[in-house]
Amino acid sequence: MALPDLSAALPLPGSSPVTPASTGVLYRRLLREAVAPYAGRFALAGLCMFAVAVSTAALAWLMDPVVNQVFVARRAELLWPVGLAVFATFAVKGIGAYGQTVIMTRVGQTVLTDLQNRLFRHLLEMDLTFFAAHRTGALISRLTTDIAAMRTAVSTALTGLGREALSIIFLVGVMFYQDWLLASVAFVAFPATVIPISTLGRRLRTMTANTQVQTGAFMTLVEQCLSGIRLVKAYRMEDYENARAQRLTSDIRDRIIKTERVKALASPLMETFGGVAVTIVIVYGGWRVIGGETTAGAFFSFITALLSAYRPMKALANANASVNEGLAGAERLFAVLDTKPALHEKSDAVALRVTRGEVRFENVTFSYTGALEALKGISFTAAPGKTTALVGPSGAGKTTVLNLIPRFYDITSGTITIDGHNIADVTLASLRDAVALVSQDVVLFDDSVRANIRYGRAGASDADIEEAARAAGAHEFISALSEGFETVVGERGQGLSGGQRQRIAIARALLKDAPILLLDEATSALDAETERQVQSALERLKQGRTTLVIAHRLATVATADQICVIDQGRVAEDGAHGTLLSKGGLYARLHALQVSPGMAAG
Ligand code: ADP
Repeated sequence: MALPDLSAALPLPGSSPVTPASTGVLYRRLLREAVAPYAGRFALAGLCMFAVAVSTAALAWLMDPVVNQVFVARRAELLWPVGLAVFATFAVKGIGAYGQTVIMTRVGQTVLTDLQNRLFRHLLEMDLTFFAAHRTGALISRLTTDIAAMRTAVSTALTGLGREALSIIFLVGVMFYQDWLLASVAFVAFPATVIPISTLGRRLRTMTANTQVQTGAFMTLVEQCLSGIRLVKAYRMEDYENARAQRLTSDIRDRIIKTERVKALASPLMETFGGVAVTIVIVYGGWRVIGGETTAGAFFSFITALLSAYRPMKALANANASVNEGLAGAERLFAVLDTKPALHEKSDAVALRVTRGEVRFENVTFSYTGALEALKGISFTAAPGKTTALVGPSGAGKTTVLNLIPRFYDITSGTITIDGHNIADVTLASLRDAVALVSQDVVLFDDSVRANIRYGRAGASDADIEEAARAAGAHEFISALSEGFETVVGERGQGLSGGQRQRIAIARALLKDAPILLLDEATSALDAETERQVQSALERLKQGRTTLVIAHRLATVATADQICVIDQGRVAEDGAHGTLLSKGGLYARLHALQVSPGMAAG
């Protein structure tokens, strides 16, 4: 099976940094996919924005009549009308700003929540090959830190960006209206401020991308250490893991400091260039008023517009930085969204109807990575309603055989059929509904015992759940828990013993009531009493189902209807226990090892 090149989708530390894709392409995509559904609200926010920008410019323009009519010409009858006009303009500006912020915040945050939900759903739909190629921490970081960067961008930028840009346009209009010559002089300095700032923006985007990659690596490390905490302690690897974590955290710190240093440059740069422009305007404008070439009112209106434009310009420069961080987040998020699952359902797939439950492997070959074949032409038939034990040395391919039945992976060649239906031709939902999986490392979710059992069949009634628990021999210990079925079992089912966790897993499978059962027998030894309880629960579960069990225990193997001995990706021999023993092949040797390890080894 050819694996897609996933390394390009999500860079790992050490690989080349994210290159800033064309900003325009990203903007268009965000607009098309995320913003378009909220176009109406955006238009409303746009209206508010327009009101703010016009009133900002109007305030500057009003300085002309204030100075010329009220102060220079001393016209008392205009005092109140001009004063009221100023007040009305301020009121419109305030209302517009409020409306725009409220609408934009709502839309912006909703858009992000949509994206977050879409990404999570997408992750759940990806196949196992994808998860083998991507580290958990990196994926979590897409859903958390990248979304957070986009949130900051939205709240600081999206809500203000349009408003500031429009205000600047109208203010510039006022400047040119009042004194076009002065305005032209002021704008000589302007391009000089824009160029360094847009260069800074591009640099920032690359730098934050690298920080995010390292943060993902750190999350992976934390996740692995915490979930393997017993291993860390048993091998006394605390110092080693600590050193690894410190290398990553100080690297992240250095990168953030560097980013902030570049960000901090934007503001003083603007201030310096802005100061030059204002100085030139005051000296040159004052000279023109003294010479009688323009009125004091026009000059004050002009300078008010220029000074009013300073704050939005600065805001734009700062917004640029956080927009770039948000865009870097969006770029990485889209990279994951664009990775399509390699495993497909056929367009004409039909629902699988299991009648007898016969599982047949015909000459199946499969490889995880493309190079090494894990299965090299396996053929066997698991008889309906019977138990087939898979035995063989570790690494032989037993787990792989089980993984292929619910189609976690696609095979390279050969066929797998259930009651004669090729599993590649049926819908994934119907196939997975037909199969129940009980593996040795029982996964319990951080939820109530009841919810954990209900995982077997969504919508199962409380009575069904309790009946399944009873059949699995779990009812007694569950009832003894502090809150019975409502007790929340912690992450990984802490607080429950290994045997108890297994019986909850068996109850889950009983509730599912699927015709085909895949069992991965626990290797870790349970005490004799627990073992007996788990075994009798398993016997009940196996009844009437086609069971494929990876068997580690002699008892399981001996009672199986059929034994399939797998060695190096092939079926070495199969048959009943007695037949295989008398044959004196691999099975007989494995059997001798288990019965009397000392003798066999000697
Ligand atoms: P068993 O269950 O008999 O111990 P497995 O089916 O787990 O053996 O493994 C069969 C072979 O496939 C081994 O060589 C193993 O290294 C390889 N393998 C198992 N899982 C993966 C995986 N996720 N990616 C790559 N190779 C794998």
